[in-house]
Amino acid sequence: MAGKLYLCATPIGNLEDITYRVLKTLKEVDLIAAEDTRNSIKLLNHFEIKTPMTSYHEYNKIEKSYQLVEKIKNGQNIALISDAGTPSISDPGEELVRICYEEGVEVTSLPGPAACITALTMSGLKTRRFAFEAFLPRDKKERFAILKELRSETRTIVLYEAPHHLKKTLEDLKEALGNRRICVCRELTKRYEEKKLSTISDVLSFYQDNEPRGEYVLVIEGKSFDELRKEVQETWQKMSIKEHMAFYEQKGINHKESMKLVAKDRGISKRDVYQSLLTETT
Ligand code: SAM
Repeated sequence: MAGKLYLCATPIGNLEDITYRVLKTLKEVDLIAAEDTRNSIKLLNHFEIKTPMTSYHEYNKIEKSYQLVEKIKNGQNIALISDAGTPSISDPGEELVRICYEEGVEVTSLPGPAACITALTMSGLKTRRFAFEAFLPRDKKERFAILKELRSETRTIVLYEAPHHLKKTLEDLKEALGNRRICVCRELTKRYEEKKLSTISDVLSFYQDNEPRGEYVLVIEGKSFDELRKEVQETWQKMSIKEHMAFYEQKGINHKESMKLVAKDRGISKRDVYQSLLTETT
């Protein structure tokens, strides 16, 4: 009988956050695939887990995934752990899971700590809808493209950042999103856990005087619907009615439907749109 892949979440700082089920699974599986075996051995030693380990990381993930899948097909149960938190969340794991599905191998996930959820829940910002962006790309072009998308994001935004990039990221966020509210969460679940709910400018000036240290999650307020509506309205107002019609018609929407949409966008009647088109064309 084939085995199973168990994605096991491990603590992001406080060892007491490990779940009973993860501990039991790590003791019972045949093999633990770990992102960094030297790092994970400390966790295993702490909980007296003697299960053999193998490495599964960014640089061997494809080839190693196939080896692990083969073992599972041959009946072994394998647990995947990352350095901290939930595997596959900004950590290797995604490829292994994808390949398991391709190869018909069963996968399950044992929930536990994830820095993004921990930060979001304690941020004081809206939690019902959120967008997890992980690390912003370092490549300038890609980073700019993502920041441009985030400008109109109405959900709360959650980002990961390394301390040496924090100030630059805060500067970029301020420029792209304006001076929004932000909760900077640092060293979550650890002894010096901290959170700062303020504005991007405030936090930036704090870190200009205090060098960032430790691990960070940034939780940023989404754009308000009112502001978004206002911006959209302003965009339409900058266009003539003819240009506005062309905007929809170029998308393949017929003339009648386009008139309806234009009227709705501008808060005017279809008759007004019709009249303006006559005037604009004459
Ligand atoms: N898989 C992990 C998870 O479930 O959250 C994330 C791994 S990612 C490689 C590492 C990043 O997560 C860090 O750079 C930091 O942004 C965030 N992080 C992890 N542990 C944290 C902690 N205790 N406090 C604040 N941020 C943390």
